[in-house]
Amino acid sequence: MSDTPLGFDTLAIHAGTAPDPATGARQVPIYQTTAYVFRDADHAAKLFNLEEIGYIYSRLTNPTVSALANRVVALEGGAGGIACSSGHAAQIMALFPLMGPGKNIVASSRLYGGTMTQFSQTIKRFGWSAKFVDTDDLGAVAKACDKNTRAIFCETIANPGGYVTDIPALAKIADRKGIPLIVDNTTATPWLCKPIELGATLVVHSATKYLTGNGTVTGGIVVDSGRFNWSANDKFPSLSQPEPAYHGLTFHPALGGMAFTFHSIAVGLRDLGMTMNPQGAHYTLMGIETLGLRMERHVANARKVAEWLEKDPRVEAVSYAGLKSSPSYKRAKKIVPKGAGALFTVSLKSGYDGCVDLINKVKLFSHVANLGDTRSLIIHPASTTHRQLEPAQQIAAGAPPNMVRLSIGIENVEDIIADLDQAMG
Ligand SMILES: *Cc1c(COP(=O)(O)O)cnc(C)c1O
Repeated sequence: MSDTPLGFDTLAIHAGTAPDPATGARQVPIYQTTAYVFRDADHAAKLFNLEEIGYIYSRLTNPTVSALANRVVALEGGAGGIACSSGHAAQIMALFPLMGPGKNIVASSRLYGGTMTQFSQTIKRFGWSAKFVDTDDLGAVAKACDKNTRAIFCETIANPGGYVTDIPALAKIADRKGIPLIVDNTTATPWLCKPIELGATLVVHSATKYLTGNGTVTGGIVVDSGRFNWSANDKFPSLSQPEPAYHGLTFHPALGGMAFTFHSIAVGLRDLGMTMNPQGAHYTLMGIETLGLRMERHVANARKVAEWLEKDPRVEAVSYAGLKSSPSYKRAKKIVPKGAGALFTVSLKSGYDGCVDLINKVKLFSHVANLGDTRSLIIHPASTTHRQLEPAQQIAAGAPPNMVRLSIGIENVEDIIADLDQAMG
């Protein structure tokens, strides 16, 4: 093959895999095995010393799971990565080599609800904390980074309000502070945005969503750019100094651009066990083969549905960065030039009751707490995910009583519009 870099769709089908060396199987086999036979005692010793790369035990690595991680690494333009048991697991795995008791992250105030809870509550049990900042206020982001800050965290397109993050601006601040920028690229996917090209160090995914694409898998991915100098300061001792949890191995610079990935496998997956299973990895590999085709249709459909809704007299507002009316429109042109994703919110003039009525009347849309499925999905946050909050709190959380969130699928767009039209009554 020539040296010309392969295109996105070619990588989506081929990257990370080759015909099975044992059988010639063309599709990636599901290596449903826990352990791997060592050739001899010396081989085993070399594997445990990381002197030779191979398979030991499937909590650490598995050929099907590695194929998936390597495929996403290729699509994101990274150096290495790991697949995890869920998107939330991927977030913990991304932070794990960087953090310690008393350390914090500076996180965007616009994040997936579950991530807000993970960062504001659960990570405190590890002695970690998060400071939430409006990432449009770059001064506030810089100011929030203190001597204990170990990363900046944001989402490419923040779910659900259609907010697009200025990744290059945050990457510059992270660089100045000597810390990595971590970007959750779940709702954009590498087809719409490659955060590493925009300066991110780590990319995390919920593979549960568009990567798999059809609502069959719970999974996550961490991709490392391989470009961060973990030894430039003393902030990242797990990588730059002898790691007591791995017989004193100094991961960086011994393993260079693969230091983060090897630490994540040899210590992170080994001890936290947030491993993806081979069958799930297989489904996600299948899904990724059509990622480009699907995203093209997702985005085209979302734009048409959003434009139709915005003109409808029953609609109060549509919040989608692909619409000229969106405050994120100009930034979306820069960060996600192929389209602003397929997830957005719509507020109805008929209020809370109108939304409940819509949810009850849709036939094509599925009423579920998920996104990024081939099927069109709908949820009314005020009566589900945000129902414990008072109306004022719901508004503050970006989930006012008269708002529903749509995840536009890849069905025929006329059918999607017709379903919303009949259900809005
Ligand atoms: C779903 C989601 C997550 C969490 O992923 P799980 O696979 O459900 O654990 C994180 N971030 C974003 C943007 C998501 O949509």
